Amino acid sequence: MYTITLLPGDGIGPEVVAGAVHVLQAVQERTGTRFITREALFGGCAYDETGNPFPEETLKLCLDGDAVLLGAVGGPKWDTLPVEKRPEIGALLPLRKQLGAFANLRPSLIFSALADASTLKREVVDGLDIMVVRELTGGIYFGPKHRETLPDGSVKAVDILEYSTGEIERVARVAFDLARKRSGKLTSVDKANVLESSRLWREVVSGLAGEYPDVELNHILVDNCAMQLVRYPKQFDVMLTENMFGDILSDQASQLTGSIGMLPSASLGGKVGLYEPIHGSAPDIAGQNLANPIATILSLAMMLRYSFDLPEAAALVEQAVSSVLEEGYRTSDIMQPGMRQVGTGEMAELIGVRL
Ligand code: NAD
Repeated sequence: MYTITLLPGDGIGPEVVAGAVHVLQAVQERTGTRFITREALFGGCAYDETGNPFPEETLKLCLDGDAVLLGAVGGPKWDTLPVEKRPEIGALLPLRKQLGAFANLRPSLIFSALADASTLKREVVDGLDIMVVRELTGGIYFGPKHRETLPDGSVKAVDILEYSTGEIERVARVAFDLARKRSGKLTSVDKANVLESSRLWREVVSGLAGEYPDVELNHILVDNCAMQLVRYPKQFDVMLTENMFGDILSDQASQLTGSIGMLPSASLGGKVGLYEPIHGSAPDIAGQNLANPIATILSLAMMLRYSFDLPEAAALVEQAVSSVLEEGYRTSDIMQPGMRQVGTGEMAELIGVRL
């Protein structure tokens, strides 16, 4: 029996999380594994009700369960709040930090039925299966930052990029272990020709390679990596990056697959794993039954695999998604001529039925 804390959040978050819960019930019926879910306030909706985007009670529930499934947070309504009250800064970053989720896994997997939905040619993306492992709790996003006024009256802003050997080693081990379970190929991304933190990154990653003789390790500079991702993305399997490079490259990799609404993520490292679609709260389509729930449903599959060690159940969900796409069902973001358009709820129901 597993306990899952649901944080539906804002915008389309509640719609896509409801879709994933529907599929979870189908998994329970199909496999006999019991799941208990409980919901907590998080993000803009939590601020509206309690004055705090990340209430203490929510943190307690998250730490007390086996895994967290998050929809998305934020939206224009909360964009003018003081920075520490905004859902992204006041809730999302502290949640990742509090859960100790230092390794963010973002697969870019293309379903063959959707290869034509990519902006790249079918032959470039068909069969694509990349796993980006992004360091999530260090680097420039968490480093000291300040502003100062210079003697001439102009303003200087400073963000500091710091990494320690321990921070690099723990996330690199996650990437090596994953590479070992996949094709045995690991590409570490850095900017070692310019940045000292990247030179340390490369040293530490190379230092671990001896412990993983079955993994072929390559290093690539981040600018070349961005170029190679659109030139010949199938050369990559597991890709290891620091926080900011990974933020940018994983969004770029996601677009190779056609829609941001298709891509899941897992944030691991602490006792409780965090699972969420990579998209945001999509205020432009919220409440209209237009959101694609597949990214959240595939995040649930990652939870079954990585937090609960139920790879067969995870594969059932992934296979059900693939079947529904093969049958021609599409949400509006991945709609193609000749296919049948369905809403958020109907897509989740179809996937549940195919399990
Ligand atoms: P977004 O990902 O919410 O939306 C980008 C575009 O993709 C929009 O046109 C949207 O309609 C579409 N889209 C996103 N998810 C979709 C889905 N499941 N199905 C169909 N279409 C989908 O990014 P944004 O517009 O830059 O941000 C909106 C809000 O979300 C902002 O407040 C932002 O800060 C927040 N945000 C939150 C998270 C998070 O909670 N993890 C991540 C990114 C952005």
